Amino acid sequence: MIIGIDDTDSKEGMCTTYLAAVLIGKLKPYGRLDGYPLLIRLNPNIKYKTRGNAAIAIPFELKNRDEAEEVKKITIETIENMAVFSEENTNPGVVFIEEKRNDMKSDLAHFSLCAVQDVLEIGDALEILRRHGISYKSFKNGRGLIGALAAAGFALCGLSDSTYELIAYRERKRWGELREIDEDSVWEAAGIPGTWDTVDYKNESIVFAPHTPDPILFGIRGESESAVQRAFSMIKSEPVERHVVYKTNQNTDMHLVHANISEVRDDRSYVLSGTVKTFPKTIEGGHVFFELTDGATLDCAAFEPTKGFRGIVRQLRPGDEITVYGSVKDNTLNLEKLKIASLTMQELKNPLCCGKRMKSKGRGQGYRCEKCGAARKEQETVAIQRNISPGFYEVPPCARRHLSKPLIRFRQPQAASSCVH
Ligand code: ATP
Repeated sequence: MIIGIDDTDSKEGMCTTYLAAVLIGKLKPYGRLDGYPLLIRLNPNIKYKTRGNAAIAIPFELKNRDEAEEVKKITIETIENMAVFSEENTNPGVVFIEEKRNDMKSDLAHFSLCAVQDVLEIGDALEILRRHGISYKSFKNGRGLIGALAAAGFALCGLSDSTYELIAYRERKRWGELREIDEDSVWEAAGIPGTWDTVDYKNESIVFAPHTPDPILFGIRGESESAVQRAFSMIKSEPVERHVVYKTNQNTDMHLVHANISEVRDDRSYVLSGTVKTFPKTIEGGHVFFELTDGATLDCAAFEPTKGFRGIVRQLRPGDEITVYGSVKDNTLNLEKLKIASLTMQELKNPLCCGKRMKSKGRGQGYRCEKCGAARKEQETVAIQRNISPGFYEVPPCARRHLSKPLIRFRQPQAASSCVH
């Protein structure tokens, strides 16, 4: 059986992963996990999300098939007892794939990838659930069925690329209190090879623990279970109530679709190649914007939380050939990564005369020297010195989105797949 669960939490507390961790404990007498539980991050631009648009799938091998109904009952009761129904935006959904049938696979693989890359309706999930006779239970408006089915779909069809996260949960009596974690032990654990985003070295901060009142104490991300377990064993902290190692699509870039600028739609995420069209400009609040063109034009932004990454973006010049990675909202791509293919080494400037640049006489009317009155029609090409080099640049860990693939993972082969036809 595969159990998919989503949308049980609120900003004030709870977390779908904690509900799953408790459920895994409750189901122990009925069988065992059939592989890792999955922590799936869905489209990061969905307006209904509470935080990171996470959904969970639990692949479970029943000791006794006759106990399937009991397992479903326990799952539904756990959701009824733990989900935050009072929150308007909490609309839990749970699905149970009881038979792993091959004829479901293409529908589910497509649906799951779309849930990460596109915007779906509750009806899209219901149609697949009914077509394949998958049992489910929804609460309130049932929007959680989208994430629940998507996570279950990945458990059925597999992940083309995956990482691991070990999540440690707090004792209930400490929820909402300051987290007690020994900082030195965290900096030491952060050095374990094959783990990342435990700390942010450049910004000198610990980034693996949330600051919200939810049950998560911290999460360690990495390439393998052994790497995250090793780092976990080094952390000194308040008591850990329980911990779970999830297999995830985090840090895989699964949300990104390769496209041209003319194909871009809001609320989706892309990889786009083009030429820098305008000088970057910094607006109030420290956000940096520039235009990218491949014929069509799109605004790209490095927002203030991306810290030092903005320093790279500010160095871009019209004519630079680049590839941008990020999500589009309000017709603006929010940069997660940037690859500079080539830098322009020349720029057009007003002609030089009497030691100063000439002044423009107005659009299309040429240039005049303010000192001697000499006139010229055209700007001149001058060599410029660049302080950046071609290469790959990324936002720091403190600003990394869950799905964003860190550059240290780019040694692995990339699987490019898209749900957009
Ligand atoms: P947390 O990270 O704390 O678990 P969350 O950020 O995962 O919370 P949810 O409470 O799960 O947010 O809310 C997200 C809602 O959006 C769910 O109901 C989910 O089914 C739905 N959803 C997820 N992906 C899509 C999508 N691609 N299209 C439409 N709805 C989606």
